[in-house]
Amino acid sequence: MSSQPPNFPPDQDPNNRLRQAVRGAAAPPHLPVKIRQQLDQVRQRKATALWARPWVPVAALLVVGVAGGLMYRSGHRALPVNPQEVESAALLSNVSHTMRPGLDDHLHCSVYGGNPVPNRMPALAEAVQDLPPQFRELLAAVQRHIPEQFRIYSAHECLRSGRKFVHLQLTTDSQLLSVIVTSRGVDESFVRDKIIPSLAGAGTSIYQAKTLRFQMAALETRDYLAYVVSDLSEQQNLDLMTAMAPEIRLALEKLES
Ligand SMILES: [Zn+2]
Repeated sequence: MSSQPPNFPPDQDPNNRLRQAVRGAAAPPHLPVKIRQQLDQVRQRKATALWARPWVPVAALLVVGVAGGLMYRSGHRALPVNPQEVESAALLSNVSHTMRPGLDDHLHCSVYGGNPVPNRMPALAEAVQDLPPQFRELLAAVQRHIPEQFRIYSAHECLRSGRKFVHLQLTTDSQLLSVIVTSRGVDESFVRDKIIPSLAGAGTSIYQAKTLRFQMAALETRDYLAYVVSDLSEQQNLDLMTAMAPEIRLALEKLES
């Protein structure tokens, strides 16, 4: 038997493919979810390691200082400086004002490992034990319509930038999906953002956005915003929100009275 490693064509060599995945701005959506989360974390660590080189913070502080001074003069808020925050800010800048809270929570809680997929998938009762009881109907709507290959691994409240979210986290072997609800701010409205709804039926308009592999479909009620954020295809993500929308709206409107 030969001890030589097998020869792969360059595009099929596992080492090449791993290197390309790590180098890429985002791992491809068909990779199993745990591997992709690890690649996202490797990418973050590489960015953090770069940050640790002595000259980088000094150079960055100079840049941020100059930019901050310019922004201060022009009345804008300061730039984010954490690498993860920089990447997050770039992704958030690709979607509308009212889409941002849902994408921000999905990125930081599900994608960047705030509450990662556990090694052992919990039973449903354990997964949803931290869900506030008033959102049980939201959970029921998700359970009724979610494709059967998805498992709920957590339902909880989480905080991001001081804002509270109700967050249902789901996964298959290769995909992540979040159903996220948050109170609607006075300046947040897809109608006000002048986003054209992708679908409008049964009194529910559904709005869409995407950035990199992240597909978003969302709706608004008087007091709430609800999002489905996933790495499904655009059509699958929209179809799922379309199926759940009437029940999600009903569940949220009951909390508004
Ligand atoms: Zn969360």
